[in-house]
Amino acid sequence: MKIFYDVDTQNDFMNRDGKLYVPDAEIIKPNLAKLTGCAIGIRVPIVGSVDRHFGTEEYKERELELQRWSGPFPDHCMGGKYGQSKIRETNLTESRKFIPHRLDNKVPYEELEKAIEKLEITALFFEKQSYDVFTNPSFEVFLRLAKIDEAVVYGVATDYCVKAAVLGMQKHGIKCYVVEDAIKGVSSETTGSALEEMLEKGAKFVKAEEILAGREKESLTDKRTRLEKELEKVDREIRDYEL
Ligand SMILES: [Zn+2]
Repeated sequence: MKIFYDVDTQNDFMNRDGKLYVPDAEIIKPNLAKLTGCAIGIRVPIVGSVDRHFGTEEYKERELELQRWSGPFPDHCMGGKYGQSKIRETNLTESRKFIPHRLDNKVPYEELEKAIEKLEITALFFEKQSYDVFTNPSFEVFLRLAKIDEAVVYGVATDYCVKAAVLGMQKHGIKCYVVEDAIKGVSSETTGSALEEMLEKGAKFVKAEEILAGREKESLTDKRTRLEKELEKVDREIRDYEL
């Protein structure tokens, strides 16, 4: 199954006044909106990740990236806060479901199976307390259960969460198409090496326009199939008439 994969397009990363703003991230917002619309239009499921932090003692081990635990980052994407919610541009789906990373690390198999059945109308996001979505064990199980083999990837930040998601998915045999004008990195140096590494591991880089053009082609193919069916019906009617 093919998916569109949305990495951490949340207010704290995407907005100038966000708690952990990725420089110039707002530039990619129009493309993020188009890609989201495209996925809905061609009925390709939207899957992705969201950062969700708690800052409590029980989550400490998982949140060592936070300054409060001597890590490099200030508090960001705190659960329930505006900064943690997704930006408008990627929030266009009919409904959304979030799969937490439980403290006991248990994978909610039944919940995942139900979510996979509803993927076409309900976007599915995996919560994480670190930059790597694979730290939430449910994600790997999901990829296997849903038989994911292709992912169109976009979001932030190229040199952290995007890189980890792409390398991880490539490792699981999933072909990643990274939308180069719908990602943003924190620094140019680490972004450059992240792009190289993704390429090396088999990811392909595409432009948003190419994905959207693919959509056009797909809808024309749909139209053709519809018209051919219509024509067959008319042919049958003519034959019946002649008999
Ligand atoms: Zn974080």
